[in-house]
Amino acid sequence: MRRIQHFIDGQHTAGSSGRVSDVYNPATGKVQAQVDLASASEVDEAVASATKAAIGWSDSSLTQRTQIMFRFRELLAARTDVLAKAISSEHGKVVSDAAGEVARGLENVEFACGIAHHLKGEINEQVSDGIEVYSLRQPLGVVAGITPFNFPAMVPAWMFATAIACGNAFICKPSERDPSASMLIAEWLIEAGLPPGVFSVLNGDKEAVDALIDHNDVAAISFVGSTPIASYVYERATTAGKRVQALGGAKNHMLVLPDADIDMAADAAVSAAYGSAGERCMAVSALVAVGAVADELVGAISDRIPAVKIGAGTEPDAEMGPLITAEHRDRVAGYVKRAQKAGAVAVVDGATAEVPSEGFFYGPTLLDRVTSDMECYQDEIFGPVLSVVRVETFREAIDLINSNPFGNGTAIFTRDGGAARQFQHEVQVGMVGINVPIPVPVAYHSFGGWKASLFGDTHMYGPEGVRFYTRAKAITARWPDPASSQIDLGFPQNQ
Ligand code: NAD
Repeated sequence: MRRIQHFIDGQHTAGSSGRVSDVYNPATGKVQAQVDLASASEVDEAVASATKAAIGWSDSSLTQRTQIMFRFRELLAARTDVLAKAISSEHGKVVSDAAGEVARGLENVEFACGIAHHLKGEINEQVSDGIEVYSLRQPLGVVAGITPFNFPAMVPAWMFATAIACGNAFICKPSERDPSASMLIAEWLIEAGLPPGVFSVLNGDKEAVDALIDHNDVAAISFVGSTPIASYVYERATTAGKRVQALGGAKNHMLVLPDADIDMAADAAVSAAYGSAGERCMAVSALVAVGAVADELVGAISDRIPAVKIGAGTEPDAEMGPLITAEHRDRVAGYVKRAQKAGAVAVVDGATAEVPSEGFFYGPTLLDRVTSDMECYQDEIFGPVLSVVRVETFREAIDLINSNPFGNGTAIFTRDGGAARQFQHEVQVGMVGINVPIPVPVAYHSFGGWKASLFGDTHMYGPEGVRFYTRAKAITARWPDPASSQIDLGFPQNQ
């Protein structure tokens, strides 16, 4: 059985805790590897290596950091296929979708190649007679990232590319369900010239997460995962005095106005609800149909569902792979059953889809006449289930979205610029798409939701990522003639 270890001090390092977790191939349902789960003493070892590395790395020149990032960018781009296949075999998403994930992660590395522009300080000359004030941004030291199973390459890239380019050492604690992507990234960063210890991978579960959070030498925690764990990580890490950004779960609404192009809206809904089997934090899971558009839209979506090709991620024509575990598939099936009992209409029930006999597959599901009090509307199902909520007015639609506890992403489909403008202004959600179903911002903007989708103050990557991974230092300087020196016990005032 293949064993996935840790990556500490620039090399694969066998675990010593004696605890492991099975890594499945969700398309076959079989265990394909075992991953080591770190104990608190292994966390100490990784943090000690990172702390040592951070000293030299924070003093490395911007030229050196940039050149390493450029070399890594080239390696990653050339090996997209290798990484995409590794992701697909452990996560289940189809290889083309995994390649898309790598491409979006690559954008964060490209952003990091230009880090020098974002680390430019600010200066005011002559704030007082002969005095300058300037501010710098400096790295924090050792920072850790705890990442979810659903984007095993892109979410780490949201964090490490900026963290490292800013001069920090980064410890990644990937999901124990699909740890291989971060191990490949670790190897390729070393190949690109990154000094050992600047990027480490510590595999593990709650024990490793808790030890990272509690460690005195870890300055900041970035987390992406479900809302209950995001909230827990935020509380524990802020109590430990750390800087924290913890991104949580989502319930993303796509609002369709009666003037929208129905075919375009239906194509977008199918893509955004069922891509990656709905296991995306920006997946559309609630479709809000305003007025008379509902019947036509539900018809157009259900017509499209049979054409979605379900299969193992490595099959060349597959569009939708399996769910991550058998347990999660059964959980999704449970939601669909209970939704019908609660009065939702299963226009298409994924349980009846023709799917491969092995593996954790569940077909695309369309639930109509869902109401906001139903469990299937309130919970993040994180599977290929689209719930249609019918409302009478645009106002009702905005109010529905704003009263949802989550605020990660949302989209409006319309031809009316005024309505879109009103929506973007009023909606209480962090990322908004206008005729764009999955509005993940490009790397030079920042990613983050509102409300229960984000605990902390800064969004991830882009300019907010730079702020998160650096702290400001303000310097007041003067070079007076020593002959003019005198004692003055008064509080310094500007002249
Ligand atoms: P998860 O919360 O179960 O796990 C995330 C990470 O936390 C993993 O590394 C896991 O090992 C660790 N973890 C799990 N339980 C823990 C515990 N009790 N204590 C400490 N650490 C623990 O999430 P997941 O199932 O891997 O990923 C899916 C979730 O992530 C969904 O809710 C999805 O919406 C969310 N997500 C959000 C975003 C976003 O940008 N907001 C992006 C991707 C995924």
